Amino acid sequence: MQRFMPEPYRIKMVEPIKVTTREEREQAIREADYNLFRLKGEDVYVDTLTDSGTNSMSDQQWSAMMRGDEAYAGGKSYYRLVEAGQDIFGHRFIQPVHQGRAAEKVLLPIFLHKGNYAIANLFFDTTRAHVELAGARCLEACNPQALDSSLRAPFKGNMDIAQLRKHIEEKGASNIGMVVMTITNNSAGGQPVSLQNMKETAAVCREYGIHLNIDAARFAENAMFVKLREEGCQDLSVRDITRAFFDLADSFTMSAKKDAIVNMGGLLGVKDDKAPYIQQIKANCISYEGFYTYGGLNGRDLEALAVGLYEGLDEHWLRYRLQSIAYMGSFLDDKGIPYQSPAGGHGIFLDAKRFYPHIPYDQFPGQVLAVELYKECGLRTCDIGSFMMGNDPDTGKQLRSYNEFTRLAIPRRVYTQSHYDMVLDAIHVVWNNRENIRTGYKITWEPPILRHFQASLAPV
Ligand SMILES: *Cc1c(COP(=O)(O)O)cnc(C)c1O
Repeated sequence: MQRFMPEPYRIKMVEPIKVTTREEREQAIREADYNLFRLKGEDVYVDTLTDSGTNSMSDQQWSAMMRGDEAYAGGKSYYRLVEAGQDIFGHRFIQPVHQGRAAEKVLLPIFLHKGNYAIANLFFDTTRAHVELAGARCLEACNPQALDSSLRAPFKGNMDIAQLRKHIEEKGASNIGMVVMTITNNSAGGQPVSLQNMKETAAVCREYGIHLNIDAARFAENAMFVKLREEGCQDLSVRDITRAFFDLADSFTMSAKKDAIVNMGGLLGVKDDKAPYIQQIKANCISYEGFYTYGGLNGRDLEALAVGLYEGLDEHWLRYRLQSIAYMGSFLDDKGIPYQSPAGGHGIFLDAKRFYPHIPYDQFPGQVLAVELYKECGLRTCDIGSFMMGNDPDTGKQLRSYNEFTRLAIPRRVYTQSHYDMVLDAIHVVWNNRENIRTGYKITWEPPILRHFQASLAPV
């Protein structure tokens, strides 16, 4: 098994976590209707529900917060953030928003409406929701390598260029409102996209005159993977690689709660600050988020984000980050436990379909595994499979996900090696017990959109 790389930071403040018994956890998950989003945080021992907004901020970020300018309009903190965004991404227009889905809500309806389509290498759940809320429909052009969790390939997150062209030809270029490149590809297991693939995608978009947006939540992890894996990129810095990606896009939407290592925040960028739709972005922002110089955030949040963007790009940090996830992957390899391999950037995606091949997709194997892991050790994970996919917006039928994953999304700078080891041992126990779990869950109540956050489940 690979060694654990020492953390490039030390601990300055601690938060106690509660230890529970198996009986207490069984009761807690029952009371939460088997939906891990509805557990009380204090009933969780290691929380890998998401890496979104669950990061520890640095001393530099906390001190920057003291400089927060809380002016309603034109505050100094806004200008500092805009400068950082322009410096890193090279996009001239930078709009702060309160989180990633806010950027989607502000931008997507400008390009998408009833009757047209967005195409992505795979949509994250909120992105899919905002495409549909705008009235448009989602088409996917996912690298087929991502469908086979045991296949080791360096860039399983890539756009399938042939499929992208096929969608465009079939629907007509004028009916494609936007192409979205998600880096890293979250739904495919935090798998990276190569710079080559980004170039090819941009070339197709240019050829057909289609707007290209980066869904940029994990732009830094993606750039580090490119540096480590892509021919010809070894000598580039992560900053250079980041710039190369963003130079190829017309705009980006970003949840800063991931790689920018803050607890709340998002960004929207447009490469060309003369683009006519910038007026519409500002208008939407004012309606939904707040005046465009704070975008729904406190001045102090803008400061923490401006610092976090740079910290998230630190190559020592990124090397540690990717290696700590790879450490978990190497344990699973040793035990023959299936996951989306090689390990992704922000977590481990266990292949629940191979834990429970006898449980059908509409009994949600990814959710079954998530519940078993919680009962075993108080670990919180989430389903990235058919439970998360939800229902077809037109027919109301349960969609079938390509993969049935249970995701451990690792918060940044929060847990230590002993937490990782405890989690790995628990996964091993649940793996060994897999044949005793015969059935899954059914949904007893669900809201119409983004149902996995709130739905109630019951054992079949
Ligand atoms: C988290 C995420 C979003 C949405 O961002 P929020 O900050 O949760 O609103 C969008 N796309 C991707 C790829 C994400 O990981």
